[in-house]
Amino acid sequence: MNRRHIIAATAAAVMAGVVPAAAQTYPTRPITMIIPFAAGGPTDVVARIVAEAMSKNLGQSVVIENVAGAGGTTGATRLTQQQPDGYSIMIGHTGTHAASVALYPNLRYNPVTDFAQIGLVNTNAILITAKKALPANNLSEFVAWLKANERTANNAHAGIGSVSHTTCLLLHAIIGVKPQSVPYRGTGPAMNDLVAGQVDYLCDQVVNVAPQVRAGTIKAFAVAQAARNAALPDVPTTAEAGLPAYQVVVWNAMLAPKGTPDAIVTRLNQALVAALNDDGVKARLAELGADLPTGNLATPAGLRAFLEAEIAKWTPVIKAAGVTASN
Ligand code: ASP
Repeated sequence: MNRRHIIAATAAAVMAGVVPAAAQTYPTRPITMIIPFAAGGPTDVVARIVAEAMSKNLGQSVVIENVAGAGGTTGATRLTQQQPDGYSIMIGHTGTHAASVALYPNLRYNPVTDFAQIGLVNTNAILITAKKALPANNLSEFVAWLKANERTANNAHAGIGSVSHTTCLLLHAIIGVKPQSVPYRGTGPAMNDLVAGQVDYLCDQVVNVAPQVRAGTIKAFAVAQAARNAALPDVPTTAEAGLPAYQVVVWNAMLAPKGTPDAIVTRLNQALVAALNDDGVKARLAELGADLPTGNLATPAGLRAFLEAEIAKWTPVIKAAGVTASN
């Protein structure tokens, strides 16, 4: 059989509903899920909730491996080097799979074509937060403080290209400031230092912030979405707080290496969708302030189209901010 015949035979087998033997029995051993940030941050927290439910559905453990570095691009690169057999997957996000294209001239992967898309996991609003001792009590006072202290203000984030970095870049562009940038390996550790008062402020996902805001260990100035977040109903929106131009929603998405068999991607998608429909998962994500995917975003095709749109959306934003990074 020449190559064309093999492709035709494979297509015929797929159309006839014949799935490869390995896909029929999949999974027969634990699945590794790469999280491209430190433990305890927003991607890790959401991933652990979803992975636990997926493990039950799949009958095998989904084991989290935190591979942090370079704003999440180290972990994403790592996934592209794994066998496409369904035993290695990851959670990528707005940074690793959209903003990275404009930020990293030497990016070692194409965020769309080097991956098999499984589905969107969640979306999440960004909250502008600050250490408790910061002398500002609302967004206008914070903006005034930032303008007055531009040279010394410390902005914590999860590395160049992470969402905490790019979303604060947007904020800085609107306000017209360029403060000090303090990178961490995830906003889990960045949040610890914010609570300890070692850095001044952080633009972070609501899921990583809500518990600290409720506990009163940090300040929350505004949530950058159209409506208030149900997990923090007392925190105003940016429009209510006087900065309507600052609106930004970010996301986490589940991906496998390109070449992962369709039947396995379908099985993983079923497990993801079942997890997102689980009452316990829904309740925990709602309590953290995460939003579930809408429309067809939790499907492989829907996610692929969404990634393409997000890359097109973020590329001009990053270019306008004039930032690049190296990995
Ligand atoms: N998603 C990152 C984390 O989990 C944070 C970020 O991208 O800002 O730490």
